[in-house]
Amino acid sequence: MLIVLLGPPAAGKGTQAERLSEYLGTPHISAGDILRRSIKDKTPLGNAALLYINKGEFVPDEIITAAIKERLAQKDCVEGALLDGFPRTIPQAEALRLPDKVIDIDVPRGVLLKRITGRRVCQSCNKVFHVDSMTGYGCDCGGNLYIREDDTEEVFAARADNYNRLTLPLKDYYAKLGRLTVVDGTGSKNEVFERILEVLENEH
Ligand code: AMP
Repeated sequence: MLIVLLGPPAAGKGTQAERLSEYLGTPHISAGDILRRSIKDKTPLGNAALLYINKGEFVPDEIITAAIKERLAQKDCVEGALLDGFPRTIPQAEALRLPDKVIDIDVPRGVLLKRITGRRVCQSCNKVFHVDSMTGYGCDCGGNLYIREDDTEEVFAARADNYNRLTLPLKDYYAKLGRLTVVDGTGSKNEVFERILEVLENEH
């Protein structure tokens, strides 16, 4: 089953995808994580992505589409995958096969900004934390936490604007194809997870 998680920056796509991936035994493919890893490893993809990502701009469709298709072609994705952060534009959606489910995680803008500015990410395992609910200084895996360079108020404004212009139209696109379900993304991680499970279990 191919599942796409849609939603604005900091809607909780990565967190929910991680849990769903464990629950369903399906690989989690995060477009942002692939790009950040490539930047860290200084690969050609990373060098190209760096020009865009820290400004909050989208990486060109051809570049990210090629990277995601390559990942989807790997053996572990034969039975499906959970896509987080891809597609983000209509051309990206057109280049992808039709997903079985598209889940849009809906969160009001004010909540998103608070989540973004308090977000901390583990350098080793990419687990995401928020300063308001952290119990220690590091990750459970022993890794150090860092603040993503694009998690500032200014860059968030650019990312939110790109989301509204380029990603929001995907909701209509997938609704017309009968694939879209909108899930309330406010509340605790557990609450949102339960709502997503309900969607996956109740509609076949
Ligand atoms: P994320 O971790 O999903 O918030 O993605 C971080 C950044 O990576 C985005 O703000 C974009 O600059 C870039 N990015 C991630 N996914 C895509 C995509 N599907 N298309 C274009 N750019 C992307």
